[in-house]
Amino acid sequence: MGTLQLEVVTPDKTVVSTAVEMAVCPGVEGEFGVLPQHVSLLSALKIGGLKFRTEGKDQYVFISGGFADVNDNVLTVLAESAELAEDIDTARAQQAKERAEKRLAEHSERIDTVRAEASLQRAIMRLQLAQLR
Ligand code: ATP
Repeated sequence: MGTLQLEVVTPDKTVVSTAVEMAVCPGVEGEFGVLPQHVSLLSALKIGGLKFRTEGKDQYVFISGGFADVNDNVLTVLAESAELAEDIDTARAQQAKERAEKRLAEHSERIDTVRAEASLQRAIMRLQLAQLR
């Protein structure tokens, strides 16, 4: 069935650049799969895990939200931050989770709730994906 090229790119670096048999992206309206020779597509992504398969083996990469573009058999994911599950620092994610929970528990007007909730979601997702490595 062949492969498609997956590129996961952040402002700092290319996190994944490899040929894959399939990928599943965390779309804002739900997960969607991308197979080789997929039709062109542009979709917004939410905080989540992107799964990709190489030589029958599944791997996961954390995505902080962003965009997925499919064109000419290349799936490009642009995200503010992304890490392979194996590169996730669980202690750091645990600390980020506790920080966000503490902020949200303060119920203070000085707290940017949306920002704290997004930070909490990133931390929870990183901890979940770290289990899958
Ligand atoms: P923190 O508060 O720990 O910085 P964050 O969710 O605010 O967490 P991001 O803004 O998403 O962090 O990411 C900033 C940079 O740090 C990115 O390069 C990201 O890949 C990296 N990063 C953040 N958390 C982790 C983690 N737990 N393990 C590995 N890299 C991480």
